[in-house]
Amino acid sequence: MSVRRMPVLFIGHGSPMNALEENVYTKLWRQLGQMLPRPKAILVISAHWYIGRTAVTAMEKPRTIHDFGGFPQALFDAQYNAPGAPQLAQKVADLLAPVSVTLDKDWGLDHGAWSVLIQMYPNADIPVVQLSIDASKSPLEHYELGQKLNALRDQDILIVASGNVVHNLRALKWRDDSEPYPWAQSFNQYVRDNVNWKGPAKEHPLVNFMKHEGAKLSSPTPEHYLPILYALGTRQDDDPVSLLIDGNLMGSLSMLSVKIG
Ligand code: ZN
Repeated sequence: MSVRRMPVLFIGHGSPMNALEENVYTKLWRQLGQMLPRPKAILVISAHWYIGRTAVTAMEKPRTIHDFGGFPQALFDAQYNAPGAPQLAQKVADLLAPVSVTLDKDWGLDHGAWSVLIQMYPNADIPVVQLSIDASKSPLEHYELGQKLNALRDQDILIVASGNVVHNLRALKWRDDSEPYPWAQSFNQYVRDNVNWKGPAKEHPLVNFMKHEGAKLSSPTPEHYLPILYALGTRQDDDPVSLLIDGNLMGSLSMLSVKIG
């Protein structure tokens, strides 16, 4: 008897406005929600919960966090009322042991999670938990946490890692037709070229991303890059890795997204 192994997504989430807009990215997210096997629950690793420890949301009803400024009122009015999954939170904590995981009752769903899920699963009827990114851990340690999370895939849990592999807001060019900066293009291509890499974790070119000459500008702070390491960490030898979409916005924001499995 074969057990179905759920795929894992890394989604380039871009602007919070993607929660409301229709564009090539949100169209893909909708299609994914319709085409993937329906999960029992969703675990999101979002760039926007980057704190000093590993925590998992463990409340029954996570709130919708509007963690941004300067956007239209409609975005602040948006709610994503998916239930939480305290039992899944406990399971995640158990899986990640001996890393200590806080069962969190304060956070909720930040826009790295809900702006994508509101498009994927607009009915908000699938329970969601979020896992924080511990800022004190190394890229290798984040990848290794991903390896431990793989077990969830056999239990109908969908893992969604949400970030942007190139994310430099200071460098944004405020014209939509802007060409990517050369360093952004080259780093993005480096990620594309290596998502399929196989070998020991500590030698993975994407774990060692800071060695790339474009990394410092593409990922001036690592929180938007790190989610892809969780996704890649879950990969098993027979899992294909496929490119879902790619694109650059305003010169320094990559929408590259991949599916594992
Ligand atoms: Zn973001």
